[in-house]
Parts: sequence; structure tokens; C-alpha cells
Amino acid sequence: MISAGVRVPLELFYGQKIEKGWKDGLHEQFDEWLNTLEEGMEGKEGKLDEIVGEIFKMRQELTGMIAESLVEKLHSQELEQTEMVCPKCGRVLTSRDEVERTVETMVGQVKLKRPYFWCKKCSEGFYPLDEALNLSERKKQWDIQEAGASLAVEVPYEKAEELFNELTGLSMSDHTVHEIVGDLCESVDVLDVAPSVEEVERKIREVGVGKKRRPIMVLATDGVHVPTRPERAKGKREGRKKVRAKRANWEGEWKEAKGFRFYLVDGERIEHILSWHQVQSNEELKESLEKVKEAGLIPEDEVRLCNS
Ligand SMILES: [Zn+2]
Repeated sequence: MISAGVRVPLELFYGQKIEKGWKDGLHEQFDEWLNTLEEGMEGKEGKLDEIVGEIFKMRQELTGMIAESLVEKLHSQELEQTEMVCPKCGRVLTSRDEVERTVETMVGQVKLKRPYFWCKKCSEGFYPLDEALNLSERKKQWDIQEAGASLAVEVPYEKAEELFNELTGLSMSDHTVHEIVGDLCESVDVLDVAPSVEEVERKIREVGVGKKRRPIMVLATDGVHVPTRPERAKGKREGRKKVRAKRANWEGEWKEAKGFRFYLVDGERIEHILSWHQVQSNEELKESLEKVKEAGLIPEDEVRLCNS
């Protein structure tokens, strides 16, 4: 009870009420989550890797529900909005529907149920919540897209997929991420990921301090064999002999995805300079190396350049 003598601002009162409600809901969900965790641990010895493994498996659900609750708390306006002004023609639009959408993020799935507005005159639909949240149109949101793309710039796509899954427990292997990475790799040039000439020179100077001889710079080229199995080698085959014959046929068609790395050797230490793996053939490898050379990124007079 609020005594008559003390005036509590109404906004503050409501603010606290909403805040409390928000956390109460989460606490209940967290309790359920803990129950599921307990069930998952039943029959196990309780070694740390079992505990960690079980939590790791379920952590997306927990963090996802926190994200969902925060969306509800911070965007009640957009979630309860019934009218909006069309940004194109200025007409007032009334919401007719609530549309569900689930997005994927690094902290888990976030389920959204938000009002939809349709402008007849402009033939265009709007979701104010999506705008407020700055959602990507794709199911996998910006954080996943960025993480996947930055991995795939460093290593071949198949390897990036594997690493991403291992480290995050999430899959980036859907059409959209492949598409984004594809777009990115087409538009990204070796010089886009290269350090500046000044930066390279600074590193060379640092490594060369107090030494009579020029620092060693290594150019390492590497190839990862990626099997590309042709259509005709797929499907069921009748006998063992046939399988063997076919296998020899497509084994020869393995594609070599190559890349290269430049690094400085400083005693035991290695100073990374540049790595590039977005090449599909020896020709592309040569072209990329030419670009690095032409950009003056490797001052051949200041280092002893070696191949490995
Ligand atoms: Zn309009």
C-alpha cells in the first residue's frame, strides 16, 4: 500500500511492475530449463565434460528465451502497435494480422509474433518490429552471417562449416549462408583483406630489431583436397566390382582448392602477415599473388623471402 503522504510517480510505478513481470516470466522458464538439464544428467557420472556437454547442448534455449523476453520488454510499442503511417504515401494503416516469424541468432532461436501492416495503395507490407530490431530478411541473422563469412574468408567453405559447427554448436550449412559467403567471396579481393604497406613494414621493422640479417618471410601455399563427386557417380550400384570401377573414375576429378599465407619468422615466433584461400585453381592462385606483388605488399629487398 502506498501511504497518502508519499507520491510515487505513476510511470515509475508501472515501470517497476513491467520490469518485475518480465523477470518473473523468465524465472519460470529458467526453472523448466533446469528441470530438463537435471533429466539430461540422469544416469551420468557427473564428469565435467558431461556437465559442460549437457549445458552446451541446451544453452541456446536458455539464451534464446532471454533474447525473446528482452524483445518483448524493449519493444512492447511495436508489438502492440495497431496503426502506422505508410512511410511512402502517408496514409494511416491498420494492422489486421499478427504474423509469426522465427529468426536464428548466435544465442539461439528467437520467436517473434508481430503486427503486419499492408498499404493497398503502395502494394507494400510493413513490420515495424522488424525495422526496430534491424532484422535481416534472412532467417539467420547478421551475427551468424558475419561469423560464418569471416571464417569462410580464411579457410575453404567446407572447413569453415565444420569449424563453425564445432565451436558454436550451430549450423551455418544452409542455403543462405552459402549464398552470402558466395557473394562475399566474389566481391572480396585479396587486397581487401591484406594489411597496408605501412603495416607490413612496421611488422618487418619490429621483427628485424637488433638483428644483422634481414628477417625471413615465408610464402606458404597449401591445397586442401575437396572431393567433387560428379552426378553419374552417385546413386546405388549393383555389385562391388562396379563400385570400384566407378570410384576410380571420380577420384581423378577431385578439385584442388588452394590458398597461401605470408608470415615472418622471428626465432620461435611467427608473425602473420596475410592469408588468402579464396582460390579455385592454380591460375587464380597466381593472379592473387601477382596482385600482392604489384601492390608492393612484400618488400623483397627488406626480407629474405622463402617458400614452404
Ligand atoms: Zn502507402
